[in-house]
Amino acid sequence: MKKFTGDKCPLCGGSKEQGFTTFTVDMQDTLVVIRNVPATICSLCGNEWLSDEVAMSIERIVEEAKNKQHDVEVTQFRKVA
Ligand SMILES: [Zn+2]
Repeated sequence: MKKFTGDKCPLCGGSKEQGFTTFTVDMQDTLVVIRNVPATICSLCGNEWLSDEVAMSIERIVEEAKNKQHDVEVTQFRKVA
């Protein structure tokens, strides 16, 4: 697993920090809001990076939310194996 802490932001040269973000996916029928997504966030420009593992879990969560066919689905991030 990659560790980003301490890296410089490629966009602005600011320092990257581990934190949490809210991830929003807007699809045709459903708006999915995922809270508390672990991310690496630049302290200067606010750019965010997700690990592959997190991105995969988001994909699954979005897929599940889509199947519920709600207009808006707000959920907490969780790891989906
Ligand atoms: Zn930056």
